[in-house]
Amino acid sequence: MTEAPTTAARLGLLVCHTCGLLSRPSGAGHDLACARCGAGLHARKPDSISRAWALLLAAYVLYIPANVLPVMETGSMFGAQRDTIMSGVVYLWTSGSWPLALIIFIASIVVPGAKMAALTVLLVSVQRRSTWRPQERTRLYRVVELVGRWSMVDIYVAAILAALVQFKALATIQAGPGAIAFGAVVVLTMFAAESFDPRLIWDPVKESHG
Ligand SMILES: [Zn+2]
Repeated sequence: MTEAPTTAARLGLLVCHTCGLLSRPSGAGHDLACARCGAGLHARKPDSISRAWALLLAAYVLYIPANVLPVMETGSMFGAQRDTIMSGVVYLWTSGSWPLALIIFIASIVVPGAKMAALTVLLVSVQRRSTWRPQERTRLYRVVELVGRWSMVDIYVAAILAALVQFKALATIQAGPGAIAFGAVVVLTMFAAESFDPRLIWDPVKESHG
């Protein structure tokens, strides 16, 4: 039996999420405030699991129109055309622009899907108070957070547009409703990851150590 490590929660200490000040609240009240900056104090992000679930479920729902509806509507002298993310990828692939097709496919279909799957695994395991591989799950969370910081929607959209303009010599380009849904998916998963408190992964582990 290994000795349980000392944690702030075990010592009755709280860290301010805003300024980082460590404080020892005297009472067990619900309206604790940081002595230095006045921000609310709590041992874990409030309603972390239900907030993250709500945002994640909304992202799942919007993932469908993001992939089914056209992300752009283009008009040229050959007539109007609507492209979904996938049809854009297929078009680029068949016209020989494999690297670009691959980048867009990974960035706009694989990565958001994998992020939502990872957040689902984290949320389900925390809800079931699982003690399974906490270190790996923490690492998974870090990757999801890192990816969120790097997924800049406008860059992908600009890449798709630039590529298609080059290929089709288009006259007019308009973002379709799918683009809005896609942007919402990216933002919602970012907020879901932000709402999730990774310390919840370690709470059941700590308890099982006694
Ligand atoms: Zn503070």
